[in-house]
Amino acid sequence: MNLLIFGPPGAGKGTQASLIAKKYKLTHLSSGDILRAELKNGELGARIKKYQDAGKLVPDSLIIAMMEKAIIKGAKQGGFIFDGYPRTTKQAKALDKSLKAENINLNAVINLNLSETEAINRILKRGRTSGRSDDNIKTIKARFAVYHTLTAPLLKHYQKQEKVININGRPPITAVFKTITQYLGK
Ligand code: ADP
Repeated sequence: MNLLIFGPPGAGKGTQASLIAKKYKLTHLSSGDILRAELKNGELGARIKKYQDAGKLVPDSLIIAMMEKAIIKGAKQGGFIFDGYPRTTKQAKALDKSLKAENINLNAVINLNLSETEAINRILKRGRTSGRSDDNIKTIKARFAVYHTLTAPLLKHYQKQEKVININGRPPITAVFKTITQYLGK
């Protein structure tokens, strides 16, 4: 099984993707985590940090290359859950191409819905313990603006393929997860 998890910042994509990956034995490919793993890496890390702290997307060329590498590596292990990728039309096209090249079929796109007010509250709460320098109100506002203009429109692409499952992200973690598993099966 291959899945993609979609939704605004703070909707719980990372949390649900981890639980899904564990239950269905999928490789969890989080673009945010992959980028954060590079933060200590000299000049590249400094570049990534600059974008993340501003709430802006890193350049397409950079994240596309990193994800392609991770897809080729993970494809030997079975299915994927993509989290935080794609975020732009260019990334969506690159992902389509990678999936085709690796003979991977995307089964479903889980669209986690959450209001902006609730999402901001969650991110601010997380910011107290996450150590993520982008979990502050100014950066969060910028991340939402990016989400609305560049990322949310991608949903249409997957709706056309009839792959989108809409999930309410408001209930507690375990309840959201249970709803997702009811769609995905045992
Ligand atoms: P969230 O979904 O809560 O915004 P992420 O960890 O997914 O958190 O992303 C954090 C930051 O990492 C983004 O604001 C952006 O700077 C960068 N990033 C993550 N994924 C991508 C991507 N696919 N393309 C460009 N930048 C990305």
